Amino acid sequence: MLIIDAHLDLAMNAMEWNRDLRQSVDDIRKREAGMNDKPDRGNGTVSFEELRKGNIGLVVATQIARYAAPGNPFHGWHSPGQAWAQTQGQLAWYKAMEEEGELMQVKDLRSLDIHLAYWDNDESERKTIGYILSLEGADSLVTLDHLHRAYEYGLRAIGPAHYGPGRYANGTDATGKMNENGLQLLKEMEKLNIILDATHLCDDAFWQAMDHFHGHVWASHNNCRALVDHNRQFSDDQIKILIERDAVIGAAFDAWMLVPNWIRKKSTPREMNCDLEKVIDNVDHICQLAGNTDHVAIGSDLDGAFGREQCPYDIETIADLQKIPSLLKKRGYADESINNIMHGNWLRFLRKAWGN
Ligand SMILES: [Zn+2]
Repeated sequence: MLIIDAHLDLAMNAMEWNRDLRQSVDDIRKREAGMNDKPDRGNGTVSFEELRKGNIGLVVATQIARYAAPGNPFHGWHSPGQAWAQTQGQLAWYKAMEEEGELMQVKDLRSLDIHLAYWDNDESERKTIGYILSLEGADSLVTLDHLHRAYEYGLRAIGPAHYGPGRYANGTDATGKMNENGLQLLKEMEKLNIILDATHLCDDAFWQAMDHFHGHVWASHNNCRALVDHNRQFSDDQIKILIERDAVIGAAFDAWMLVPNWIRKKSTPREMNCDLEKVIDNVDHICQLAGNTDHVAIGSDLDGAFGREQCPYDIETIADLQKIPSLLKKRGYADESINNIMHGNWLRFLRKAWGN
């Protein structure tokens, strides 16, 4: 079954983790033996080969670079210009992978349909994976002119915030409403028909954005506060307004967002009983609130600064996303609903967003 994964930090892995995603997961892991500069060394789950194996034919892939003002508790670049330059390096990697036939950019209805038909019919072993470009945290947009430039090179979704205080919006573990820049950003995104990614917006910014942004909203990788109580997760009220807005929410695979009381670098998925059933619990919670299966899908965030050491233990590589359909079936989900969750909901969303 075709799977669409709406959140992968592919370029971050390539350009900050120095992972050559053209290699096998095994080889990428071996190359990292003895390294301890990142918490997930030797535990990566994503490569182009594994995406193909998992029939994950379309992904939403990020550019990501934070700005950290003096006193910001989170690490980040010391100027917006540096953050912009970082995202441009990431863009250059996506372009290089396009030149090598690994990736192809999907940015409108036409390219979406062409890619889906190609993915369906092509028999070759090394199929080109489609990617939609998104920006996680808007700090790197030095000015709104940069937003227009980004739209020109294919940027189609933006999450204004990431962790902590941001230049446009405050994110996870922060509070406070958006400033004038944030509201201007939303207005300009709406004009350009760029999708608002509600993921990582702090509660204050989230509700403000719901009032001020009238375009298409999704949440690429977000779980439920009712299951693991943390501000990174959506409350039921937030999920309900997203459903009202016809949003789709991607279930995320980071273990601490799936099981309560996870302790970083200490807990293990097995001892915490963190398996794919916990992902299904989140999917199911959203379906129960919606009364249908139209508003939840997959946004795994695999290898988003965590790998095997901090994701469901029944995930060895991202190809194991293919285990989800049978787990949904066991819970009583109908085939049509399973199709929706694995790919149909993202496609319906994109067709609606890009249709006019
Ligand atoms: Zn994230």
